Amino acid sequence: ALQVGIVGLPNVGKSTLFNAVSNSAKAQASNYRFCTIEPNVGLVDVPDERLAKLEELVKPERVVPTTIEFVDIAGLVKGASKGEGLGNKFLANIREVDAIVHVIRCFEDDNILREEGAINPVGDKEIIDTELQLKDLESVEKKIARTEKMAKTGGDPKAKVEFEILKKCQAHLEQGKNIRELGLSKEDRVAIADLFLLTEKPVLYVANVDEASMLTGNKFSETLQASVKAENATVVVMNNSIEAQISELEDPADKELFLSEYNLTEPGLNRLIRSAYGLLNLITYFTAGVQEVRAWTIHTGWKAPQAAGVIHTDFEKGFIKAEVIGYDDYVKYGSETACRDNGRLRIEGKEYVVSDGDVMHFRFNV
Ligand code: GDP
Repeated sequence: ALQVGIVGLPNVGKSTLFNAVSNSAKAQASNYRFCTIEPNVGLVDVPDERLAKLEELVKPERVVPTTIEFVDIAGLVKGASKGEGLGNKFLANIREVDAIVHVIRCFEDDNILREEGAINPVGDKEIIDTELQLKDLESVEKKIARTEKMAKTGGDPKAKVEFEILKKCQAHLEQGKNIRELGLSKEDRVAIADLFLLTEKPVLYVANVDEASMLTGNKFSETLQASVKAENATVVVMNNSIEAQISELEDPADKELFLSEYNLTEPGLNRLIRSAYGLLNLITYFTAGVQEVRAWTIHTGWKAPQAAGVIHTDFEKGFIKAEVIGYDDYVKYGSETACRDNGRLRIEGKEYVVSDGDVMHFRFNV
C-alpha cells in the first residue's frame, strides 16, 4: 500500500492523529480486514461512498475497500539534520514514504509546552522545512562530489545532465526552498530519483485547531493557509483530539450522535484520507462481482493493462481487453446486464486510459 508519513514538531498532535488513524483502522477490522504492521504503522480504508452503493446493487459476499498506510514519524526537532533528537534515523523513515502529512499546531494550550514560545504555525513549518532542506542539501552535495569529475571530463553525457540538475537543486535548497517547488520536469526527477529527496515528496498540512475552530478555522490556520498558497498545498483543518475521540466510538449510532453534536457531517479523518489520496494523484476503479465488490488504487493516467496488473501481474501480461462501465451508468441502470442491454458497456483495448470510478472486467490469456 502507499505510505503517508506524519511529521511535525513535538507536541503538535501527531500521536493523537495517529491514534485516530489506527483506532479507525481497528474499527474497520470487524467489517473488513486489519493488519497490524508495526506500532507506528496503521492501515486505513479509503472512505468511498460508491462502494456502499455498489454493494447495495450487487449484493456481494464481501466488500473490499482500497487502503492507505499512515506512519507516525516521531522525533523531528530543530537540529535533526545535525543528528539532534532521533536525527538521522527519523529522516531515513521519511525517505521511504510516498507523501508527507505535516501536522502544525494551531491551538493554544498553556499546559502543552511549545519550546519556541507563542504559537507560530509558519515558524513551525519553517523549522521542519529547514531540517529537511539541510538533509537534502547534504545528499545533493555528496552526489555532486561524485559526479563532478565525470561531468567535467565530458565522457558521459548523462553525467553532465545529472550534474546540471544537481547544481540547480543545490542553489534552490541554499535559498531555503523545497525541491517540490522547483518545477523539475519528469525526466529531471527520474535522473535524481536515487537520492529520494525529502523536500521533493508531495505534502499536505494538517492545521490542528482548537475545538471551537473545527468548522471555521482560526487565525493560526488562516496564516498557515496564506503562507502555503504559493506552494499550492492543501491545508486540512481539523481537531486531532476530537478525531481520536470519534475513532474510539465503536457503535455507528454513537458516532453519528457525536458528529452531529459537533455539527460535523463526517470525521475530519475522512477528509484527510481523501486529500492524501488526491495528493498522490491516485484514482479508484472497481471490480463488481457476486463474490466481491472491490476498490483498486491506480495512478491517474494509467492504461487498462497496467490497471489490471494491480489485481494480478498475469492480468497485465495476458491482457486482451477490458469491459468497462462508468460508475454513473452502473448506478443509473443498476446492473451489468442492464448496462449491456442499454449499450453502456464498452469494450476497451490496451490504450484505454482508465477513469476514476470505472467498473472493470478484464479478459486475458493465461
Ligand atoms: P506529538 O508530540 O506531536 O505526537 O503530540 P501529541 O499527539 O502527543 O499531543 C501533545 C499534547 O497535545 C497531548 O497532551 C494531546 O492531548 C494534546 N493535543 C493534541 N491535539 C490537541 C488539540 O487539538 N487541542 C488541544 N488542546 N490539545 C491537543
